Amino acid sequence: MRVYYQTFGCKANQYDTERMRQESEARGAQTTEVRSEADLVVVNTCTVTNQADAEARRFIRRLRRESPETEVVVAGCSAALREPEYRAMPGVRSVVRGHDPVAVASVVVPDYFAQIELRTGLDRIDPEPIGGDLLRRRRGAARGWLKVQDGCDRKCSFCATRLARGVSRSRPVEEVVAEARLMSDAHAELVITGIHIGHYGIDLEGAYSLSRLCATLLDRVPGVRFRLGSIEATEVDDLMVDLLSTSDARLVPHLHMPLQSGADPVLRAMRRWHTREQYRTRVLEIAERVSPLGLGADVIAGFPGESDRDHASTRALIEELPFTYLHVFPFSPRTGTAAAELPDPVPQRIAGDRARELRDIAQRSAAAYRASRVGTPAGVVPEGDGRRGLTEDYLRVDIGDREERRERGVRPKPTGGLVRGTLRGDADHLYIETPRQTPLINA
Ligand code: SF4
Repeated sequence: MRVYYQTFGCKANQYDTERMRQESEARGAQTTEVRSEADLVVVNTCTVTNQADAEARRFIRRLRRESPETEVVVAGCSAALREPEYRAMPGVRSVVRGHDPVAVASVVVPDYFAQIELRTGLDRIDPEPIGGDLLRRRRGAARGWLKVQDGCDRKCSFCATRLARGVSRSRPVEEVVAEARLMSDAHAELVITGIHIGHYGIDLEGAYSLSRLCATLLDRVPGVRFRLGSIEATEVDDLMVDLLSTSDARLVPHLHMPLQSGADPVLRAMRRWHTREQYRTRVLEIAERVSPLGLGADVIAGFPGESDRDHASTRALIEELPFTYLHVFPFSPRTGTAAAELPDPVPQRIAGDRARELRDIAQRSAAAYRASRVGTPAGVVPEGDGRRGLTEDYLRVDIGDREERRERGVRPKPTGGLVRGTLRGDADHLYIETPRQTPLINA
C-alpha cells in the first residue's frame, strides 16, 4: 500500500499530516512522494474559507480523473464539517472527521484491526498509536512544527476553524518537551504552533501558560531555536517579552499577531475581544523592548459594515506600527459562520481596492525594514537546497552573495544547522555574508 499525503491549510494541519503519516507507517503503510504512484491518497483538508473547501473537492475530482484506480481518504477541518459531501464523492474510501492519526491509520491500513487483536489480545478495540504520541520530524523540511495545543475558545464571527477544531486543549508540558527533544535532532528551528497558542495551559493543572512553556523549552531543549506561531497581541505577556528580548534569539524575535481590523466598530462586529488601542499599545510596548523585531499580522479588508472611516482607521494604524509584513485578505463570507449573515456587505471591488491599498503600505514598510537590517548580524536556518534561508526576524535571504557563489562555483549547502553572519546587500537582494570556507555552524 503506497500512500501519498496532500495537505491544505495551516501549520497545525501540516503537523497533523505528519502524525497521520507516522502512525500509518508504523502499521506498515509505505509513503510515496510521487502522487501518480500512490494506491491511496490521504487529503488533509482546510475550511478557513469557502474557497478552501472548494479547493479540496477540486483536488479530489482531478485526482480521480488522472488516476481512476486511486482511492482517497479525506480528513481534517473541512471533513469535520462536511462529511456527507465528501462521502458522496466517487473514489472516496473513507472520511475521518478531524485529525486523529489513529483513526486515519485505521482506514489507510487494510489489516489494521487484525494488528490490534494480535498486539493486545483483547476483544475490546481500543487502539493506541503504535507510531507513538510524539512526532519525530517533519519530513523534507528544515524547520519543524511543534504543536502544543488544538482548538479555540474564542468566537470570532468570521472563523470556521474553531467550529471544526472544537475547544482549546493543551498538550501536557512533559509531552511537548519530549517531542521537542526528538524533533531537535532533525531540525535547527521548531515553530510552536496550534490553533490558539495564547491559550496554552489554561486547561492544564496549575494553570500553565505559553510563556512558562517557552521558558521550559529553552531550558530543557538545547541546540535548537524556537519561533512562536501566530499569537494574539493581548496574549503576549511580560515573561514572553523578556524571553524574546533576552534569550539571544533562541526564542526568535518574530511575532505574527492577527489584527484583522484597526477600527473598533469592525472589531466588535468580528467579535474580537480587543480594541484598536489595546492592540496598538501592546505592539508599541513590545517593539520598544525587542529589536530587531519581525512583526506580521493578518488583516481582513471589506468586512461587512466597514465604512470609509473604518478603513482609514485601519490604514492609519498600519502606517503607525512597525510591521515588517502583512497578510491582507478581502473579506469572503464562510458558510456557517455568523459573519456570513451580517448585513451591509462591502462590494467586492471596494474590498479588493482596500486590500491593495493596505498591501502597498505593507510592502513599503517591509522594504524599509529589510534595508535597515543591512550591516547587522543575523542567524539563518537554510531551507531547500541551502541557497536561501530564514532569519530570526522572518526575512528570507540568500546564503552568500549570488555573484560570488557563481564565481567561486560554491555548491548549495545542505539544510540543517544555523548560519551566522552579517546581512549585506539591499532591500531587494538581502544575503547573509558568511565565513568563506565554513558557512555552516551547527546550532
Ligand atoms: S481566535 Fe478567532 S480567528 Fe483565531 S481560531 Fe479562535 S475564533 Fe478563529
